[in-house]
Amino acid sequence: MVQSISILGCTGSIGRQTAAVAEHTGIRVAALTAQRQIDRLEEQVRKFRPEFVAVYDEEAAKQFKIAVADMNLRVGSGMEGLLEAATLDSVDCVVTAVSGAVGLRPTLAAIDEKKRIALANKETLVCAGDMVMARAKEKGAEIIPVDSEHSAIFQCLSGRGEGELRRILLTGSGGPFRGKRREELEAVTPEQAVKHPNWSMGAKISVDSSTLMNKGLEFVEAMHLFGVSPEDITVVIHPQSVIHSMVELLDGTVIAQLGVPDMGLPIQLALTYPQRLPSMFEHLDFWKLQDLSFEEPDLENFPCLALAMDCARRGGTAPCVMSAANEVAVHLFLQHRLAYNRIYDAAAGAVEALGDSPADDLDTILAADAAARAYVRERFGR
Ligand code: MG
Repeated sequence: MVQSISILGCTGSIGRQTAAVAEHTGIRVAALTAQRQIDRLEEQVRKFRPEFVAVYDEEAAKQFKIAVADMNLRVGSGMEGLLEAATLDSVDCVVTAVSGAVGLRPTLAAIDEKKRIALANKETLVCAGDMVMARAKEKGAEIIPVDSEHSAIFQCLSGRGEGELRRILLTGSGGPFRGKRREELEAVTPEQAVKHPNWSMGAKISVDSSTLMNKGLEFVEAMHLFGVSPEDITVVIHPQSVIHSMVELLDGTVIAQLGVPDMGLPIQLALTYPQRLPSMFEHLDFWKLQDLSFEEPDLENFPCLALAMDCARRGGTAPCVMSAANEVAVHLFLQHRLAYNRIYDAAAGAVEALGDSPADDLDTILAADAAARAYVRERFGR
């Protein structure tokens, strides 16, 4: 189990839950980073007294320094600040809870220092899965997934021999619009899209869950994390979110991981693994469980999932372009500047226009990410 962590992206949903888990388990928080939400950051800083803090946004960093002038605290900014937080000597685990491609460099830097990565940043594996997994293997750094599905698969595969796996069954709730046709979703508002039936999450990932893009991103991540090909992953819609994913072994045995839908559980395991500690979360009450049901995903009405599976097969920069374009499109949607169904159009258009080069080095990947963002802003922003 880890002793001391850095939380990159501590003011977001996962970051705050990680801080709560650290408090509960007595793990030291040695470094915190935030993009620009300095009020929330200051609260955490005064509570956890980390040795180093970074604010990504330069202007916000200046304001933050003034706010904590009484604390004798070391404060960094920009990418340099994130890199320092990710590589601090006293830290043995880096929780990557930032969103976007900004998480890539710090994650690679932490891997180079053999830190455990508690991975909550989707873009790391979606954009640079081959590179990151190869680097982690070479350096002997552990990557423990925080996302509930990947944590479930990780737990189901734990202790399995090489070659025992037949396929991964990646489960998803289907989101708030399950059963609807695409035409019916034309007028969906941000308020409707962020209401997830089971999980409490940030706005961007909630929209992704509603379009099934989130499942698509998880599909690409699972491929890299567990070293399987797209054909080895089956997406199963399971509306109750009690099973968090499963693996099917060669002999037909299926192993599932179940629990209450609370991100605190996979976060805690990523920090305490291989140990288990009592948690502060509710336990599964089998007498209250409703029926567990399963459906095939509706790829026709939720084309984002089909697009992601296609990008997974294409490889190269296609998944990165898709993810970056989707991120910009979702932000435009959240600002009422883009219609709900155009999110898919933006992501698919970007992949068509830009998603065809190999993803051999970080610069190519970051350039593809930037090009996809510009593409959506220019053609879809209004
Ligand atoms: Mg998930």
